[in-house]
Amino acid sequence: MITRNQNIANLKAGYLFPEIAKRRREFAAAHPEAKIISLGVGNTTEPILPHINKGLVEGAKKLGTVKGYSGYQDEGMAQLREKISSVFYKGKFSIDEVFISDGAKCDIGRLQTLFGAGTKIAVQDPSYPVYVDGSVLVGAAGGWEGAGYAGITYLPCTTENNFFPNLDLIPQNSLIYFCSPNNPTGAVSTRDQLASLVKAAVEKGCIIIFDAAYSEFIRNPSLPKTIYEIDGAAQCAIEVNSFSKPAGFTGVRLGWSVVPKAIKYSNGESVNADWARIAGTIFNGASNIAQAGGLAALDDNGLKEIRKLTDFYLGNAKLIRAALEKQGINCIGGDNSPYIWAHFPGRDSWEVFSQILEKCHVVTTPGAGFGPAGQSFIRFSAFGHRADVEEACRRLGSLM
Ligand SMILES: *Cc1c(COP(=O)(O)O)cnc(C)c1O
Repeated sequence: MITRNQNIANLKAGYLFPEIAKRRREFAAAHPEAKIISLGVGNTTEPILPHINKGLVEGAKKLGTVKGYSGYQDEGMAQLREKISSVFYKGKFSIDEVFISDGAKCDIGRLQTLFGAGTKIAVQDPSYPVYVDGSVLVGAAGGWEGAGYAGITYLPCTTENNFFPNLDLIPQNSLIYFCSPNNPTGAVSTRDQLASLVKAAVEKGCIIIFDAAYSEFIRNPSLPKTIYEIDGAAQCAIEVNSFSKPAGFTGVRLGWSVVPKAIKYSNGESVNADWARIAGTIFNGASNIAQAGGLAALDDNGLKEIRKLTDFYLGNAKLIRAALEKQGINCIGGDNSPYIWAHFPGRDSWEVFSQILEKCHVVTTPGAGFGPAGQSFIRFSAFGHRADVEEACRRLGSLM
């Protein structure tokens, strides 16, 4: 018999979302009359808009022609890599620094293979689960010690520090996961804050994996949409991003990572060269149909559709935040991100989750599921049909 990978055994039992789904099922079974609305998951709900959808359709059609046919392209279509560099980074990166992927989460999982089991990890707390769980899978996290993993440094983001962590806690030579606009808190780091993060990373010999999956939700023009707006970031930061949330590609699957050539390992070797190798070794590239859709999403009409779709979800976020604040609940987020982080001081997140489910028949996400500092918070997601969000807001009117 073959033994189980110990790293999988080290994953803390019950990934957050299956646990929520289980509680929802149990509630639904006990209350078959309840019309449950979910503001719980970060999954998109609205159709792909027509111009971008046409890009997907045309991409599929091309594959049926001799002239339009294409096969493997491990690192992605050159045209799309170039377009991403020009639309998001003012052309600052050459196409061999932009890698097309099947999504940001998948890239985050694969990126861990570059650094391996001996790497020290630092994460914002609370955080998107794959930063921690991916680290566990490559053996970099160590064992579970009751409140967290031994090999991971948790950087608490709380009301006290305005949801930006104390950078003095970051260990030397560590891999730092950083997400802004943040999932789950909805907080967006300012330019000065990101400048201090880059400075700390350079001083401590760290590499940042910057997750910008919600950058297209930023409306305040003074907030940075990419880490590369900060001087020095191209020496120490890898950025991952995705078409999932802004274009509704959660099911289509398309993302990208930027791995600047200036980033080096301690021995001077190139991180970029290894990443190109990973693309050909365990990936083989994103769907070329999805990439055709991505190209359509980044032309003028596509960018207008991205704006329209993100505006729609931000409209939901505004309604949810207003409904909660009317109940006297303190919230952050929802203005430049699709998540609202609601504070229930002194209470257990899972207990508040149950109260909202039982009283309002609304599914949310308990903050404690994103890390120890998420305790006493609830994440509300703005991904939903407008009528459902409006109904959920009415019901939240009798929460407290
Ligand atoms: C949704 C999300 C992603 C996107 O993942 P894909 O694999 O591209 O769908 C990445 N990071 C965060 C923080 C997310 O919430």
